[in-house]
Amino acid sequence: MASVEMKNIVKKYGDGFPAVNDVSLDIADGEFMILVGPSGCGKSTLLRMVVGLEDITSGDMIIGGTRVNDKAPRERNLSMVFQNYALYPHLSVFENIAFPLRLAKTPEAEVQEKVRAAADVLELHEHLDRKPANLSGGQRQRVAMGRAIVRDADAFLFDEPLSNLDAKLRGQMRTEIARLQRRLGITTIYVTHDQTEAMTLGDRVCVLRRGVIQQVASPRELYEQPVNLFVAGFIGSPPMNFLPAKLRNGTLATPFGDITLDPKRGADIGDRDLVLVGIRPEAFDDASLVDEAKKPYGSTFRARVDVTEWLGDSQFAYIPYEAPEEVVEQLKELSRELDSEALRTQAVVSIDSTSRIRAGREAEFWLDARKVHVFDPATGENLT
Ligand code: ATP
Repeated sequence: MASVEMKNIVKKYGDGFPAVNDVSLDIADGEFMILVGPSGCGKSTLLRMVVGLEDITSGDMIIGGTRVNDKAPRERNLSMVFQNYALYPHLSVFENIAFPLRLAKTPEAEVQEKVRAAADVLELHEHLDRKPANLSGGQRQRVAMGRAIVRDADAFLFDEPLSNLDAKLRGQMRTEIARLQRRLGITTIYVTHDQTEAMTLGDRVCVLRRGVIQQVASPRELYEQPVNLFVAGFIGSPPMNFLPAKLRNGTLATPFGDITLDPKRGADIGDRDLVLVGIRPEAFDDASLVDEAKKPYGSTFRARVDVTEWLGDSQFAYIPYEAPEEVVEQLKELSRELDSEALRTQAVVSIDSTSRIRAGREAEFWLDARKVHVFDPATGENLT
């Protein structure tokens, strides 16, 4: 096993904008690291540079303490699991798993031992004689992982391995990959654009945007303390709400009334004429259901509910708000890149399933000021 260190990695295709731009990332031995970001952010390119399928324009790629920039893929002892699993249809499960050992001319007794051990871990021992066509998608995925296991690779690399599967199987495989990785303790780098996978699988998540690292943190920290508007908007479903506000003496004037900031969070921001307030749906609730003891930690406001969605254990309410035209113009001006995040004009609020709040009526909501984020609209930086 091995650690993977990336130092100031840059990748340029031709003269264009760098696909990967000065990425430095340390992945510890045995760690499960997720690379996540929207299409084109450079995550696959980065992974391909780890494996050696792509040249590195500048920077150092260090695996297990050795610089590997100039090493061929087969000299790197890494195992990559692709989206389509790359199984050989004419070979049995046994031979598919054994493939890298056969290539390395491993003695038969060792092949038998290693394949059977991997099949045990993966619960494939009953299927060793089958052909891939007679396996479920999940079992095929496990065969692909088996091939990676028998090689005693230093690290597993996954490039969107679940994106061809249906939602149910994807959920099962996600749990399976997490369980296996913990059991085997192998350093793993996993690329996905799916934030659910990112948040449930990894020890740490690296969020990329346009080839640049935005934040590297545990799933919980990303969710609770996003460093900027991009991460805040990318992580979480439904996404964080963003409202324009004015900040005076620690109090935000928002379309939902005044919110006094928790002095522990953002007391030192100072007065600002325009900020974006970020509030996750679950920071709100139906005011009539909130404990009186809790109420002083937040503020209460009335609003008309546009739509409700009942989910069984909770429900969402959509509440429209109006932002003055000049504020919208100012935001457009300030944060050209952040338009979609900055200019939503309805908030999604998560409320208890027992709430009697109904669409088309006014209702009283409470929001927890301790969970409010304040962003600088020009830089996107989280100031709280
Ligand atoms: P996706 O989720 O869509 O696969 P990604 O985050 O993995 O996206 P990359 O495939 O790494 O993104 O691509 C990053 C950028 O580099 C994109 O702008 C892409 O168009 C560009 N790119 C990738 N491969 C090449 C190539 N061979 N030649 C030129 N440009 C490329």
